[in-house]
Amino acid sequence: MNPDQDRWSRVKERLRTSVGENVFSSWFARMEPESIDGDTVKLSVPTRFLKSWVQSHYAEKLLGCWQSEVPSIMRIELTVRSAVIRTLVAKAKPAETPVVRHELRDGKANGMEFRAASAPISAVHEALGGSPLDPRLTFESFVVGRSNTLAHAAAKQVAQGRRGDPVMFNPLYIHAGVGLGKTHLLQSIAWAGNASAERKVLYLTAERFMYGFVAALRAQNALAFKEALRTIDVLVIDDLQFLQGKSTQVEFCHTLNALIDAGRQVVIASDRPPSDLESLDERVRSRLAGGLVVEMGSLGEELRLEILKSRAAAWKHHHPSFDVPLPVLTFIAKTVTHNGRDLEGALNRLLAHSKLTGQPITLEMAEREVRDLIRPQEPKRVKIEEIQRIVARQYNVSRADLLSSRRTANVVRPRQVAMYLAKTLTLRSLPEIGRRFGGRDHTTVLHAVRKIENLVNSDTALAEEIELLKRQLQE
Ligand code: ADP
Ligand code: MG
Repeated sequence: MNPDQDRWSRVKERLRTSVGENVFSSWFARMEPESIDGDTVKLSVPTRFLKSWVQSHYAEKLLGCWQSEVPSIMRIELTVRSAVIRTLVAKAKPAETPVVRHELRDGKANGMEFRAASAPISAVHEALGGSPLDPRLTFESFVVGRSNTLAHAAAKQVAQGRRGDPVMFNPLYIHAGVGLGKTHLLQSIAWAGNASAERKVLYLTAERFMYGFVAALRAQNALAFKEALRTIDVLVIDDLQFLQGKSTQVEFCHTLNALIDAGRQVVIASDRPPSDLESLDERVRSRLAGGLVVEMGSLGEELRLEILKSRAAAWKHHHPSFDVPLPVLTFIAKTVTHNGRDLEGALNRLLAHSKLTGQPITLEMAEREVRDLIRPQEPKRVKIEEIQRIVARQYNVSRADLLSSRRTANVVRPRQVAMYLAKTLTLRSLPEIGRRFGGRDHTTVLHAVRKIENLVNSDTALAEEIELLKRQLQE
């Protein structure tokens, strides 16, 4: 049943008198009665932010005002008006995911116990309008290596701060290329910071900042804006390079200044240093550069191996049969790109393969599975002089002979082979190669290359000779 509008009006009047016009219009103006169910009144508000704010600051007052009108009321239940739709959307997603991927997702978790424990933190964080946090991205699972020591230490410092502590560097600005651990580090700060009830760390992607946070704040008045900011101890913004639009920037600048001036910590990650954020106003850039700017380098081979080891060990909790021999991990660390996402992708495939086929993981299987993630080998730069030296030695002629104009058979063939190798192993042009072989014309070089190409198809001895030379040159 709908509670009688008169009663609601009287409750509102009591509230207004009790908290004052300003607070009333900030927090209660858009509250609506839904129903009265026994001793419980159900009320709704338009945003989750508003709901959590009212709950944590005005729950008693609200109940008191109701009880003055209807003494039997014992409980107030607040809901977010669009919540039903949101829940449905959230629930629909996993069902669309294929079963195998679903299993793999579970496999990425650090363990069930941890997930369960993390749920309340998540809920508080989401109530503030934060972006979803991934339970796997914590300090515990972050591997420290040479390229990220400083960033890690700074992040730890920020996460351990207490309310009221002096802020050491503000903002903390971390930049690095894709897949090098920025999001991992930032979410670690959010998890660690929110673990104590005393502080609130809000993690937002730049996108969320643009379309969620700012919009929610705009819907409130200036007072509400300030009050909202006061509740946040640490504001973490990920992927700042995506922040766009003039008005968003104004809001961002406003928020940044308000927080920093109030002694609140701001942490930012981006794929580039502040000076390269071209679309941002010069004053914002210099404010960003005014704290601590740390770059994370690419993951070295050692760090890649450590990350893989810790990942594989974590996954084993969920998939006891998932054994990855050390040589396989070493192989992946050596060959797969510097990007942390590809490392994870590589392990994912091994897991999928071993789950689907039930076969143990071997080096051959790993080589096959991760072939396309393998970093293209920088072809070793071969010098033309080197080619001439090795070919001359192989055919027992001198280098001067190769460059000379002599046309005896014992010199002509080695010279053609050397030119052919120069064309196939270096990026030099035909005219350039001609010049380096005693000032010959490019058509001469072309002729030599074609000649050897043809011979290699019919003369296996020559083909083998050339293979051997190539290998010597590329080692
Ligand atoms: P970014 O945000 O810089 O693009 P992410 O933080 O998303 O990168 O990292 C990509 C993947 O690599 C994630 O799975 C992350 O857990 C992993 N990763 C990156 N650096 C580390 C590290 N130092 N220790 C453990 N995992 C890492
Ligand atoms: Mg990221």
